[in-house]
Amino acid sequence: MPNRVPIEPGFFTIPEDRDVPPRLLGSRCSACGEYFFPRRQVCARCLVTDLQDTELGPRGTLYTFTYVHVPFFGSLRADAGAYGVGQVDLREGPRVQAVLSGGREELSIGMDVELDLETLYHTAEGDEVVIFRFRPAARA
Ligand SMILES: [Zn+2]
Repeated sequence: MPNRVPIEPGFFTIPEDRDVPPRLLGSRCSACGEYFFPRRQVCARCLVTDLQDTELGPRGTLYTFTYVHVPFFGSLRADAGAYGVGQVDLREGPRVQAVLSGGREELSIGMDVELDLETLYHTAEGDEVVIFRFRPAARA
């Protein structure tokens, strides 16, 4: 299996096991307990600087979304078609904007979604360059 690398470091984990969902790299305020994504140096709620790194997700609820019909990240993705972009409320609190996988008819406001990685392109060395996205969560 090719190595997976993030399009930009510091935003999400890339589990060794491809069946394990990634997690977002956030912060938690030691004083008031608020969670943030992406990571912060100062708490936006109480302004203390005592924040700890934490992992968030992988589950959330789709707060709202739109469906986009213009090319994805320019032309980085070969099969660029229409795709969803949504705002997802993580269980820990933060609302995160991200690409959604799945067709328009598979998405609905209020549904459970789960983090996932999508390969945008391969480097000359053969690595997969990935982004995080949310997909409809498997029904329990
Ligand atoms: Zn705080």
